[in-house]
Amino acid sequence: MPPFLSKEQKIKLEPIRLCASCYTDAPYRRLEWQFKAIAGCHRHQVRLLHKCPSCERPFSIPELINEEKCKCGMYFWRLSRHQKRF
Ligand SMILES: [Zn+2]
Ligand SMILES: [Zn+2]
Repeated sequence: MPPFLSKEQKIKLEPIRLCASCYTDAPYRRLEWQFKAIAGCHRHQVRLLHKCPSCERPFSIPELINEEKCKCGMYFWRLSRHQKRF
């Protein structure tokens, strides 16, 4: 019998989605993208990011809330220039 993982161990959070422009406006109030099935920010007319363009790591909620920058040192507010327009 192969060692199956339990269901709990397989559960992962959806990729964190981020509009860096909204984040710049209000870092603590802009996790709203996470709860909507949207591909982009309609306020800024740009697509959302789901990983750091510098080191390719997926975003994490604690980093977004507490660190305001990626482990690689990239500040999230600087990522707006990596967002593609609709
Ligand atoms: Zn936005
Ligand atoms: Zn990074």
